[in-house]
Amino acid sequence: MLRAHLAAGDKLGKEIAAVMQSGGLVPDETVNRMVEERIEEADCKEGFLLDGFPRTVSQAVLLGGLLTPRHIQTVVVHLKVDYNVVISRIAGRRQCPTCGALYSVTSNAPTVSEVCDYDGSKLIVRDDDRPEVVEQRLKAYEVQTAPVLAYLKQAGYSILDIEGEGASPQVIARRIEKAIEEGRV
Ligand SMILES: [Zn+2]
Repeated sequence: MLRAHLAAGDKLGKEIAAVMQSGGLVPDETVNRMVEERIEEADCKEGFLLDGFPRTVSQAVLLGGLLTPRHIQTVVVHLKVDYNVVISRIAGRRQCPTCGALYSVTSNAPTVSEVCDYDGSKLIVRDDDRPEVVEQRLKAYEVQTAPVLAYLKQAGYSILDIEGEGASPQVIARRIEKAIEEGRV
């Protein structure tokens, strides 16, 4: 959603761009406004997945204010991944400036190093994947996001702890489905 606003270059997009380039997180009220608009859309009627949100306790509180009056049932999926793994993964990310294709130097490398398979463009490191920005994001995570889990537990949300390492996205998705089926919520 943030990237869509960035790409559209609207007022919100420009606000977001300034914050992201400095490695900070977008203000809670802004994000919450976007989420509220989005979950009102028709494709969210049967349910929806919030990925990377809420990121702060204040966002979690605001989110509760959106969900409770709508009687929306929730499951919180907590993917457990080691910091060092996250850092090396982000450090290996590359993007094609022409077609937007994403690569990873470790797990999804292009055929020719640093060159897009589709159009031969030289791959780039996205601004928000630069090491100094990643370090800022991890600090922001530690201060702002880590307490969210504690808050959600205390507020009575159902939480699924899922091992997020050492497997393909498909396998991890299956772990989540299985945990829900087994009623571990
Ligand atoms: Zn490309």
